[in-house]
Amino acid sequence: MTASETSETDEEVGGLAATTPATELSDTPLRVENLQKHFGGITAVDGATFEVERGSLTGLIGPNGAGKSTTFNCITGVHEPDGGAVYFDDEDITGLEPYQVADRGLVRTFQIARELAEMTVLENMMLAPKSQIGEHLWRSVTPGFRDDVREQEEAMLDHAWETLEFFEIDHLAEEYAGNLSGGQRKLLEMSRALMTDPTMLLLDEPLAGVNPTLEEKLLEHVHELREQGFTFLLVEHDMDVIMNHCERVIVMHQGTVLAEGTPAEIQSNERVIDAYLGGEV
Ligand code: ADP
Ligand code: MG
Repeated sequence: MTASETSETDEEVGGLAATTPATELSDTPLRVENLQKHFGGITAVDGATFEVERGSLTGLIGPNGAGKSTTFNCITGVHEPDGGAVYFDDEDITGLEPYQVADRGLVRTFQIARELAEMTVLENMMLAPKSQIGEHLWRSVTPGFRDDVREQEEAMLDHAWETLEFFEIDHLAEEYAGNLSGGQRKLLEMSRALMTDPTMLLLDEPLAGVNPTLEEKLLEHVHELREQGFTFLLVEHDMDVIMNHCERVIVMHQGTVLAEGTPAEIQSNERVIDAYLGGEV
C-alpha cells in the first residue's frame, strides 16, 4: 500500500509511499493555531495551538473532556471551529468540509457505523472513499473515469485487497463487519481510512477494546506506515503506548495545550503531572 499509488504523477514510483516531495513542503504538515470550539455554553476547545512533524507518530493525550476528539473533528471538517485556524501542507483548511480535507490527504478514522456492520468487510472498503470524499469527487480524482468506470472500480478493488492484506484481515473480506472482533474492527477502520490515499491519519483511541496481541500488531502496522512516510496523530489513554511508541506528545487540558515535548519531557513535566498523570508517574 502506498500513499501515492493512484495519484497521477507518481505512478511510476510504485512501492512505497512517495508522497509529494518533502522539499516543497514544510516539516509540519499539520498546524493548529488558537483553535476554539464551543457547544452552547460548553467550551470544548479553548485556544489550542500545536503542530505535528512530518512522518512522526505524535500522541495527543489529556483527561476525558479535554477536547481531543473535538480538536480532531475541527481539524477534519466534522465541526466548524468558532475561531483559530488549521493548516495542512501549508494550506489554510479551516472550515473545509470533510471530503475536502480528505481530498487533501488528511483523514480521521471513524467507528464502523451500524449500517456498515451489516455489510461485508470488502463492501466497507469499497464504500470508504465515497463516504470520505464523496462520490462525485472520488470519480473525478481518478483520471478518465468517464471512459472507463470499470477500470477505476478495479483499481479501487486492488487497493482494497492490498490494504486488507497489509492489515492481515484479507481472509475476512466476505465477513460481515458486525461479526468482527473489537480489534479486527479497528483494523478495518484504519483500512477504510487508507482508501482515500491520505498522507496523514488522525487516530482516536484506535486501541480501545483491542486485545494485547492485536494491539501489538496494530502498532506495528502504524510504525510500518510511518516508515513509508505517513504522519500520525494518535489519541490514546494507555500511557505505556504513548510513552513507548510516540516521538512527540501533546497534552491537552480544558481545551488548551498544556505541554508539548518528548515522552521523557512530558513524564517529568510538573504541570502535566499535576493536571493529568497524577500518581501514575
Ligand atoms: P475528549 O475527546 O478529550 O474526551 P471531547 O472533545 O470529546 O473531549 O469533549 C470536550 C468537551 O466538549 C466535553 O465537555 C464534551 O462533553 C463536550 N462536547 C464534545 N462534543 C460535543 C457535542 N457534539 N455537543 C456538546 N458538547 C460536546
Ligand atoms: Mg475523545
